[in-house]
Amino acid sequence: MIIDTHCHIYSSEMENAEQIIKEAAENDICVILNGTDPLSNREILELVGKYENVYGALGYFHTFADEVTEEDISLLDSQLENDKIVAVGEIGLDYYHTRDNKDKQKQLFEKMLTLAQKHGLPAIVHSRKSMQDTYDILKTYNVSGSMHCYQGSAEMAREFIKLGFYMGIGGPVTNTNNKKTRKMLREIDMGHMLVETDSPYLTPQEKRGETNTPLNIKYVIRKIAEELDMEENEVVEITTKNAKDLFKF
Ligand SMILES: [Zn+2]
Repeated sequence: MIIDTHCHIYSSEMENAEQIIKEAAENDICVILNGTDPLSNREILELVGKYENVYGALGYFHTFADEVTEEDISLLDSQLENDKIVAVGEIGLDYYHTRDNKDKQKQLFEKMLTLAQKHGLPAIVHSRKSMQDTYDILKTYNVSGSMHCYQGSAEMAREFIKLGFYMGIGGPVTNTNNKKTRKMLREIDMGHMLVETDSPYLTPQEKRGETNTPLNIKYVIRKIAEELDMEENEVVEITTKNAKDLFKF
């Protein structure tokens, strides 16, 4: 079994979400769907109840930072009480898309981490142009998790690993000019690596121009195997075990 630890396969993101979930199941792929706002979280709760190969992470993304209310936070608090909800995510800081609400983003991120800590759940963290702030906040919480689509240096990866984090490796690793991520792969412990697609985004180079789906996780696995001079099934075995250890299923 392969576990796509980060994707957004639900109807507010993709028209044929349920068809794709069934295709993933036929290919022995489990997916962890990540929510970003109350609507996607609700869709995920429905899908985890319906499909065996679907698990969920619920959370409020930085895009929701200006709107979030206390009612939204208490709703999420109660929604996290579900056996198939295995993480709080997708959460984090993004100074690439929006820089003018840094304080609100940080406040929301801290509220999300407080919930993760309360429920004993890992966090799935997005960080773009915000690595130092992300790290400074994470180190004040007792929360493990995944650095989704990690694009930073090996040095920084080792610091996140010390906090109990795993590095999510996705489609960008397949890009010919992404030497930085492939170098990082060779320098960090394989015991802290996860695979993911971020579908419908971040399509691997081999399928450029198409909508991404969890089936494309095979290109990510192939590239990791190639870089580390391993068999593809070894990569699957190790990353699946890592995901099961982190998300406890
Ligand atoms: Zn995502």
